[in-house]
Amino acid sequence: MRDFLVAGNWKMNGYAAGNTALVAGIAAGVPHSARVKVLLCPPFPYLASVVAQLQGSNVAVGAQTVSEHQSGAFTGEVAPAMLRDVGCEYVIVGHSERRALYGETSAAVAGKFKAALGAGLKPILCVGETLEEREAGSTESVVDEQLGAVIDTVGIAAFASAVVAYEPVWAIGTGKTASPEQAQEVHRHIRALLAGHDADIAESTQILYGGSMKGENAAGLLGMPDIDGGLIGGASLKAVDFLAIANAAAQG
Ligand code: PEP
Repeated sequence: MRDFLVAGNWKMNGYAAGNTALVAGIAAGVPHSARVKVLLCPPFPYLASVVAQLQGSNVAVGAQTVSEHQSGAFTGEVAPAMLRDVGCEYVIVGHSERRALYGETSAAVAGKFKAALGAGLKPILCVGETLEEREAGSTESVVDEQLGAVIDTVGIAAFASAVVAYEPVWAIGTGKTASPEQAQEVHRHIRALLAGHDADIAESTQILYGGSMKGENAAGLLGMPDIDGGLIGGASLKAVDFLAIANAAAQG
């Protein structure tokens, strides 16, 4: 049976004073369940202080993106080894905002995934379709292309140390959530795609749902057989909202 991962993507939100209170609130209320892991992904400048504050807790820290390069003349970029150096365990790659706003192609995302793994980070690979793509009936082909680019680059075995997040773009930050059945259909498809390469890897890979997940809809989504947690944006910025999701996972 797969464990749950409940990950908060703070995006470009929060400042030091508020972060301290948020992290303290989350750390104090994390469910005592061996099956639920909680992860916080703050902006780069706060990673080290959030790691320090969480020392001795069972809450992990990750970054929101990473460079595909190791070091050198890449002004503004952050290398995977730097993220490890400050105590990150995970990194999100290929978030739809990175793909849409910063032109990250599937090939670039695959490069970041590979570089992250090489530094000992666990990549969380985001995939998902826009509303136009869903309405055109291309959800599966979009997800296949995004996932396929990574499998072609790193091989299926790499997914033993990685996580996939299905995030329908039309549900991110919009308040519209995929129904549990809509999400499950795509999660099942993703797992089948992985199984086409390696059945054991497919069975053990965590596939998170992301897109306006909150306390009120978490139990329904997390109750689906192929949904193994959540990648949460808006609802990760308040301890009470985020913990409601973590608690739903603990009861799932
Ligand atoms: C996200 O940014 O990954 C996300 C799912 O955001 P939200 O929960 O706000 O839709």
